[in-house]
Amino acid sequence: MAKRKFEPKDYIQNGGFIFIHLGCLLVIWAGASWTAVALCALLYAARMFSITAFYHRYFAHRTYKTSRVFQFLMGVAGATCFQNGPLWWSAHHRHHHRHSDTEEDIHSPIARSLYWAHMGWILSKQYNKYDTESVRDLAKYPEIRWLQRYNVVPGIVLGVLTFVLGEVLAHTSPELGINGLQALTWGFFVSTTLLYHATFTINSLMHKIGRRRFETDDESRNSMILALITFGEGWHNNHHRYHASERQGFYWWEIDLSHYGLVMLKWLGLVWDLKTPPKRIYEEAAGVRKRTKTPGRLRQLQNDEEKAIDLTPAFSELNDSTLRGLPKQEKELLEEV
Ligand SMILES: [Zn+2]
Ligand SMILES: [Zn+2]
Repeated sequence: MAKRKFEPKDYIQNGGFIFIHLGCLLVIWAGASWTAVALCALLYAARMFSITAFYHRYFAHRTYKTSRVFQFLMGVAGATCFQNGPLWWSAHHRHHHRHSDTEEDIHSPIARSLYWAHMGWILSKQYNKYDTESVRDLAKYPEIRWLQRYNVVPGIVLGVLTFVLGEVLAHTSPELGINGLQALTWGFFVSTTLLYHATFTINSLMHKIGRRRFETDDESRNSMILALITFGEGWHNNHHRYHASERQGFYWWEIDLSHYGLVMLKWLGLVWDLKTPPKRIYEEAAGVRKRTKTPGRLRQLQNDEEKAIDLTPAFSELNDSTLRGLPKQEKELLEEV
């Protein structure tokens, strides 16, 4: 496939993304301490979980259910990652699944370059807008639309809080060697930058490096190392094969920290109905069964629904109502898409 050339409209414009990177230079004046590094690691972990378990597995794919209040809190937690609001994020991600590694895909390292898939598209002014129709299921909540509109607020509040925490610790526990500027530098700027690049490896490296268990129509791959760094998102070939599943590590040895976290939230009663891969996916993984192609009739239904809503929520809703009368085999196939 011929790669697209870099065009004038691709020029850098995302000032917030650059500002976060430049903020890391404060380390020259702020210095470092073990407390600051621990704060950086803690906020990286909490926010990696938020972006994967909440933005990706809930908002983009609707792989489990929750209450309306917790849904909003999950959106706020995801927004602290400074990766735009849940509607923008989900709309672009759903688009990626519909057009993976084709010319249409907005961040394919196959159709374009590794750099483009990693961060070139983030720096481009082409993608500030999103397809509101594709996230109609989420946009029906006014509080989610509000969060989308003010998506930078949770991140800014987090930045201020890290500074305040550092100042408080400097006065109450000076032996920790941290102060406001250092806490802001490590807890906010360095942590967010690391979070950016770890998250973006899923769009770039995970379509280039690793093993392919399933013969998907794209170049998605699985990697244990990237799964550890991204809390389970490295099982990307599994995910592209069956993105209706909440867990992306399909076996006990496929470490998936976001899945473990969501199971704990389930024990607390905050989330429920975590979807898992069906038996036929495991049979396909074991080579017992070949991949079943979607029959024409279902493909048409899928296309019709795509115009209004993404595959996963569309099919979860379809299963509940519209397609109640379909034969058993077709219902099973729908769950797979
Ligand atoms: Zn996905
Ligand atoms: Zn992908």
